[in-house]
Amino acid sequence: SSSVNDDYSVQKTNDDASQSKLAAVKLGYWKDEFLARFVSMSTEDGRAVHRDPEISLGYWARITIIRHYIDLFLAKAGEQAQIISIGSGFDTLFWRLKSEGAKFARFVEVDFASVTAKKLRVIRRSSSNALTGLFREEAHENQHTDLHAGDYHLVGADVRQWAELKTKLEEANVDWKAPTLVLAECVLIYMAVSQSEELLSHFTKQFTNLALLSYEQVNVNDDFGRVMVENLEKRGLRLAGIGACESIEIQKKRLVDAGFSHGTVDDMNSVFHKKLSVEERNKVLRIECLDEMELLKQLNEHYSISFASRAPEMDNFGEPTL
Ligand code: SAM
Repeated sequence: SSSVNDDYSVQKTNDDASQSKLAAVKLGYWKDEFLARFVSMSTEDGRAVHRDPEISLGYWARITIIRHYIDLFLAKAGEQAQIISIGSGFDTLFWRLKSEGAKFARFVEVDFASVTAKKLRVIRRSSSNALTGLFREEAHENQHTDLHAGDYHLVGADVRQWAELKTKLEEANVDWKAPTLVLAECVLIYMAVSQSEELLSHFTKQFTNLALLSYEQVNVNDDFGRVMVENLEKRGLRLAGIGACESIEIQKKRLVDAGFSHGTVDDMNSVFHKKLSVEERNKVLRIECLDEMELLKQLNEHYSISFASRAPEMDNFGEPTL
């Protein structure tokens, strides 16, 4: 198990992700009218956040492919659908979906209690109702870390502790039989491979109709990958789950071992060129001047998206056998 210090630096990764996303939103890469409520554009030492164009393009591809799979899931699952976002940080997906009229039964966000407490404070003080106005029911708080509001639930838990997590999911009225998607955006890498495998196995055993959407590093063993990991470690981060990110094949194996039967794992370079709209892609490529396409390609080759399902009742999503 990891020390408190490790957990603290892992929680800080959320600030970095949120600020990178906000920097891209401000430049017009995609629309998010909610994110600025959760995060500010200056760092702790007061400097303005700046991200290189390839970083913003990487985040654009990440946001866009995640939304593509979420829409696919919601279209198939219908109004009973549940989304459970683990290590959700300050993600705004719930509000973006609701403001666009998406229909689902419940959206549960889980993160360390210190992170959910911060998110809860922002939600509570959103005076204009911009955030609470999209909840189906009036919000009820629990211990300053948890919030329940009908279709939106925010709960503090260490997802490596299944008993604790399961209790929190029960408090969020999660239906074990309803079609459910677990979203893990840049979070599994921070736990040991055995822990993420155990977590995913618990999910596949507990839910009858389960899909998983996971975004994280891949190909970490080549030159670029090693430098990328070193840079993260220099900032005090221990990537405990790095072993599952050596290759696409290893990622697939973890999914199979955890009980998933169908799915696709792609590196983000093939996503960027094959799965995203050419029109949209050309539009975002024009936002800033990127003189090194090679840099973007290398960066994209080191991230992956997995979309997997284990669905004896519901058909799979047309994805191949793993
Ligand atoms: N998913 C968000 C996104 O992509 O914008 C946040 C990503 S951030 C890189 C990783 C998040 O996972 C942090 O908020 C961190 O606190 C959370 N996290 C990592 N390990 C966790 C654990 N064992 N239990 C709960 N949350 C965890």
